[in-house]
Parts: sequence; C-alpha cells; structure tokens
Amino acid sequence: MQESFKVWVDRLKEGQVQKIEGSFDSSFLDINETDLKFPKEVVVQGEAYLADQHLVLRFSASTQAALPCAVCNKILNVAFCIKNVYHTEALEDLRGALFDSSEPLREALLIEAPRYVECNEGCCPERVLLASYLSPAKGVSSQKKEAPLGEQPCSAKGEEGDVHFPFANL
Ligand SMILES: [Zn+2]
Repeated sequence: MQESFKVWVDRLKEGQVQKIEGSFDSSFLDINETDLKFPKEVVVQGEAYLADQHLVLRFSASTQAALPCAVCNKILNVAFCIKNVYHTEALEDLRGALFDSSEPLREALLIEAPRYVECNEGCCPERVLLASYLSPAKGVSSQKKEAPLGEQPCSAKGEEGDVHFPFANL
C-alpha cells in the first residue's frame, strides 16, 4: 500500500479531514493489457473524513489512457478524469484502523477509462480503405443490408456491448 493512499481512520475521529493529493505513478491501477495502458501519472485531489459512522472518500483525478484506434490501430493517448466521486465504507465493516484508499480510486478511474477511440477526431482516414474492402461491388459483403462501416457517418460509434467490467463487483 502506497503511503499517500493510507487513511488512518482513528485519526479522523475528531472531525479531521485527511487530504489525499499528489501525482502518482499509474502502476496502482494494476492494468496489464496490450490494448489499454496508462502512460502518465495520475493527478489526484481527494479527501477522507468521517460522517455518520461512515468513512467518506471524495476523489477528483485525471490521467491519460493509451489505446488503439478502433479502425487503424494507431495508439492514441486520451485524457480522462473523474470529478467528485464519493465512496463510503461503514465503520463497522472496516477491518482495522488503516484503509487503503487506492482501491476505490482505482475502481472509479477504471470505470471512466475510455474503451473505444478512433483517431482524427472520430474520422479515421483508414475508414476509406475499409469502405472499399467492404464494398458490395467486390462481393465481400453483398449479403449485408446495413451500410458498410466506411459509409457510416463519422460520428458513428462502435458497439460497446461486449465491454467487460471485471471491477463492477468489487
Ligand atoms: Zn485510425
């Protein structure tokens, strides 16, 4: 557990607020995927305090994700952030006086991390190549009724139905 993320619950009993602030190496996000990396530090502004028999954490944070363009695979850096995300823990559920605030922070950031990007502001130049490849004239997709990917308006977004959130149940 990184020192800066440690919340000493006993020290908050008198109404103190503990700041959780700084720029942290993104390794605490613990993601090892080829298609999703976090190349920059995570800038965090957060605080921890007690309210109503609960430990309350409030976080704002920003960093960048690096992931490939969905069309041409060029790696893109995409900035993203979380703003005033709250996390609460009932004091009676806490095991011990030390709480690792990096876990809820990690969870909140991974939920917000981009899963789909396209270069050139959503109009990847290689869509044109894709369009000719999919053209009915070449017999590749003559059975398809919907427009080939390359003929969709550039604002069209990819299907995100298969996105997997391994963190949702934490
Ligand atoms: Zn592209």
